[in-house]
Amino acid sequence: MSNTCPTCKNGTLKPGTTTVTVEREGALIIFKEVPADVCDNCGAYFLNEQISNELYEKANRAIKNGAQVEIMKLTA
Ligand SMILES: [Zn+2]
Repeated sequence: MSNTCPTCKNGTLKPGTTTVTVEREGALIIFKEVPADVCDNCGAYFLNEQISNELYEKANRAIKNGAQVEIMKLTA
């Protein structure tokens, strides 16, 4: 299989990092340096299952702890 971007069908997905914003229950959690496959054309990113699970788990925990705005780093 090629790594053609399913969003723009033009670019190529390459391993990199991105910033993911999770907005939930009025809270805003920003994850920096999240490992992802990033399109070199349109900038769309795709997280693998493990990373996205980890990300949502951390976001949920932060929100439960009363975070309103939080910036976290997610490194593999
Ligand atoms: Zn693309």
